[in-house]
Amino acid sequence: MDFADRVINLEAEGAYHMLSRAQALEAQGHEIIHLEIGQPDFPTFENIRQAGLKAIQDGFTRYTPSAGIPALRAAIAEQAGRQRGISIQPSQVVVGPGAKPALFFPTLALVRPGDEVLYPDPGFPTYEAMIRVAGGTPVPVPLVEEEDFTFDLAAFDRLVNEKTRMVVLNSPSNPTGGVMKRAALEHIAVASRKLGFWILSDEIYTRLAYGDQIPSMASLPGMAERTIICDGFSKTYAMTGWRLGFGIMPESLAERVDLLLTHSVGCTASFTQVAGLEALTGPQDQVKSASAEYRHRRDLIVAGLNEIPGVRCRIPQGAFYVFPNVSALSKTSTWLADYLLDEAGVAVLPGTSFGIRGEGYLRICFANSIENIQIALDRMRKAFTRL
Ligand code: PLP
Repeated sequence: MDFADRVINLEAEGAYHMLSRAQALEAQGHEIIHLEIGQPDFPTFENIRQAGLKAIQDGFTRYTPSAGIPALRAAIAEQAGRQRGISIQPSQVVVGPGAKPALFFPTLALVRPGDEVLYPDPGFPTYEAMIRVAGGTPVPVPLVEEEDFTFDLAAFDRLVNEKTRMVVLNSPSNPTGGVMKRAALEHIAVASRKLGFWILSDEIYTRLAYGDQIPSMASLPGMAERTIICDGFSKTYAMTGWRLGFGIMPESLAERVDLLLTHSVGCTASFTQVAGLEALTGPQDQVKSASAEYRHRRDLIVAGLNEIPGVRCRIPQGAFYVFPNVSALSKTSTWLADYLLDEAGVAVLPGTSFGIRGEGYLRICFANSIENIQIALDRMRKAFTRL
């Protein structure tokens, strides 16, 4: 088939590939522990489910404005602004089906052929895909393990130039769980103000932070007008399948993104938006208790991994992933991930699913029960000892 250039180099997300391999083994009767897919293991909170159901029963099932129902945009502006210590107008908020549209559409609206876009490697695979679809040139910036996987600022300084149109940041990060410190953000902000490039700040894990509150690029002086915040409900409120997320950006860009939504998805499901409104305005105690539970699991998995010879694991400061260094085992990440699935019944992702600099690492999602994490650790220890 003669496909357009913009789709020729698109690749599947590694997590979906590993999930289907694991499910095929399960269909043959194998018992697999799933630590590959990045989603909360508990159901959407009850009050949110009820709000969605009630909306359907009340007949709230028709089209809405493309950028979202006004009450939801206002609630997002209020909550997201309060959390980041900035003032956000509802007109700056664009609601979409998931957080991914808040990555893809601003990129389509801003990036022109020939523009360069810097993004983290290892990083969420959608970044490279969206840059390529927009016709831009993806420029990976390495992350430094020794500094909790923050951007390699020396490499950043070498790579950034007048062709740089946008820099993608993700803190807390998928796949590393690393968090960018304010000093690193300030360093990048100085370059952005000087060269005029945009920042696309993927903050979807910002409320799953285990230490201090995570600083947002948009809160730095002069940066709100050149920053797009991508955030959503999937991880914070265990709503992955509802498809609800949002972008926050300067109003003129929001208008363009709104048009892209109008002509592609139309709008986000109406009852999903009502559920999202309940998520933001209802009680927040379950967000806090989920975060405390993840922290407990994090401590367990980090300690267990560090006891396995050949494995070295840093403590993630956010999200629900660990990114252990397994280079001492002298096998490729893909080999090790396949081996763990086939020989130990543990599904994890090779670090290379997130870019070439993920070689030597595995990504393990710890949004799973303590019991399953313990079994997985035990199986991994035995499997790696046999190598
Ligand atoms: N950004 C990052 C870093 C993610 O890990 C994910 C999902 O895994 C997304 C964005 C997309 O989120 P959603 O499922 O809400 O579109």
